[in-house]
Parts: sequence; structure tokens; C-alpha cells
Amino acid sequence: MNIGILGLGLIGGSLGLDLRSQGYHVLGVSRRESTCERAVALGSVDEASVDISLLAKAEVVFICTPIGLIIPTFKQLIAHLPSNTVITDVGSVKAPIVNAIAPLWANFIGGHPMAGTADSGIEAAMRNLFKNKPYVLTPLASTPTATMTVVEKIVRDLGATLHHCSPEDHDRAVSWISHLPVMVSASLIAACMSETDQNLLQLAQKFASSGFRDTSRVGGGNPELGVMMARYNRTALLNSLQQYRHNLDKLMNLIEQEDWAALEQQLQSNQKARPEFVDGC
Ligand code: NAP
Repeated sequence: MNIGILGLGLIGGSLGLDLRSQGYHVLGVSRRESTCERAVALGSVDEASVDISLLAKAEVVFICTPIGLIIPTFKQLIAHLPSNTVITDVGSVKAPIVNAIAPLWANFIGGHPMAGTADSGIEAAMRNLFKNKPYVLTPLASTPTATMTVVEKIVRDLGATLHHCSPEDHDRAVSWISHLPVMVSASLIAACMSETDQNLLQLAQKFASSGFRDTSRVGGGNPELGVMMARYNRTALLNSLQQYRHNLDKLMNLIEQEDWAALEQQLQSNQKARPEFVDGC
């Protein structure tokens, strides 16, 4: 089967590596010629071009551009495709994308692989990025079963764990576990950087170890991705941030009042809750 990938960066390049190793013929299109050449050299794609018409030969196309470009590139893409081509995307936000594309292309299904690193671009592409990671599909009642089946098979071939939900539920759920953590982690780094004593700041930087590495990772990643999450999932993210602020205030109150018993109770309940989110990651 010919699979097309539009946007050869971290996600598109990684998809290509794994799909080729599963025996698919992968056609890649990206904005820059140098990226296309690199994607072929790294083994992410069999053929690559900056000319979107290369994807006319694909039976399934994954749109892997930055979120803000998914709808515009989809509109360019469909001028070159027969109507039976299956299209899916990997955008981190689903409702605005699915609501814009589904009415224009019957064989479309939204998707979101819950996997990534702090790096971006074709050089960041890696094998097995999606293995044992959740991969969410967001079909609508109107999505043809055949379209869903084709994409489900490819997702399983990546070794990912398949999930289904509505685009709106997806956006509210990822707001809690993906978009909120990016903003919290970003404000953690910003708070540390607000230390005005340069000696202290340098000491903190020298002492930072695995705990700070873990908690700052998502906030110190690709800025473009963070802005896109906020812009396209604004309502859900603001709701999560409000709740986060409320919880932070609660913790501050407990510390101000030196209510160590209540603080311990809260931390114990967090310790109990965490495995429900991260066991199996
Ligand atoms: P990325 O590494 O920056 O890759 C995006 C690539 O798209 C760029 O390398 C760029 O390639 C290409 N591109 C830009 N404009 C284009 C255009 N007009 N036509 C064709 N290609 C174009 O970003 P990413 O992290 O892979 O994210 C891609 C998508 O995956 C986003 O929609 C994001 O929401 C989603 N996603 C990201 C993660 C994550 O953690 N990173 C996780 C799950 C889903 P050139 O080098 O040719 O400019």
C-alpha cells in the first residue's frame, strides 16, 4: 500500500520510519527541498518531493504539518486526490480540524498519536516512537467504516494502542494531561528564571537534576506547538488552568497555615491518583 505523509518533521518522519519497516511504500511531501532529501537519506520515506501532487499515488495520506497548517494544506492536497483516498491527520487538537475537514472529505478521520519528544524537524524523527503509546482516533457518525478500518490497521501496525472518542472529548481530555502540563511546566521554568540573585540562579542551575529535567521537559519544548495548543484548544485549556490555579492556591494556603496534616493528606491522595494516569506509559 502507498502511504503519503505531508509534513516531514518529528511526527511525519517517525511515522515514515515505522511504516516503511512494516512494508508500506511511503511517499513524503514537505515544504523544504533539503528536508525531503534528508527524509530519503534517513530512510523515513521511499520518495519525497516539495510538490504535493506526489501524493496523488497514495491510498492513505497522513497530514503531519504544524496544527495551524493542517486545514490549509488539506485544501491544497484534495485538488490532487481521487475521492476514495483516505485522509487522516495527527494534530494535537481535534474539534476545529475535524469540524472543518469532515464536511469537505467523506473519507477523513481525525487522529492523534500521544507520543513526542522535545525536539522537532526531520532530524528528530525516531523509530518506535508510537510503540505502546495511545493513538486516538476521533470518528464521527458519518465516518465510513472502511475509512476507519484502514487507519485502524495502520495504527496497530505502528504498535500503538488504539482509542476512539469524539473530537470534543479528545480536546477536553488532552487539555488535562498534555496542554495543561505544557503551561505548568513552562511557568515553572519562568518562575525559576525570575530569581534576581544571579549567584542563586547559577547555583539552582548547577543543582538541577532528574526531578527538574522531568518537570521542565514539556514546558521547555517546541514553542510553536505550545502556542498552537493554547490557540486551538483555548476554552478547555483555560478551564484546566483555572482549576490548576485553584489547586495551587489550596496548597499555598495549607503551607501558609502550616497545616502539615492536611498537606500530607493532599499529597497522599495525589500519590494514589498518579498511577491511574501513568501506569503503562
Ligand atoms: P515538526 O517537527 O515541526 O514537523 C512539522 C513539519 O512540517 C516541519 O518539519 C516542516 O518541514 C513541515 N511543514 C511546515 N509547513 C509545511 C507545508 N506548508 N507543507 C508541507 N510541510 C510543511 O512538528 P511535529 O512535532 O512533527 O508536529 C507535527 C504535527 O504533529 C502537529 O500538528 C502536532 O500537533 C502533531 N503532534 C505533535 C506531537 C509532538 O509531541 N511533537 C505529538 C503528537 C502530535 P520543512 O522542514 O519542510 O519545513
